[in-house]
Amino acid sequence: MLGVTLHTSQTPQTHPLLCFVSLYMLVAVRPLGANPVQIACPKCHRTVLSKVDHSAGLLTYLLCGGLFFCGFVLGCCLIPFCVDRVKDAKHSCPSCKTILGVYKRL
Ligand SMILES: [Zn+2]
Repeated sequence: MLGVTLHTSQTPQTHPLLCFVSLYMLVAVRPLGANPVQIACPKCHRTVLSKVDHSAGLLTYLLCGGLFFCGFVLGCCLIPFCVDRVKDAKHSCPSCKTILGVYKRL
């Protein structure tokens, strides 16, 4: 008799095929960007619109250094720290505050 049988000693959470399916579902989610996205929270299992917090990243510091060496001194080189478009974006769940991912500019 041909067929695939599951051993009863394996629980559904530890079966390799089921682990692959759940990993595939995580990869299939739309990648995070700089704007809020609709995403399923892995902790509270709700579909939420992510909350985005911007923080200084590598691109912010590189632009600051570049502006400084181009002659933008006396605080003008700190302008990138005031512009959200050059900062990294941290996505979190608005319900349970779980960090869902970080979008890095560089
Ligand atoms: Zn959540």
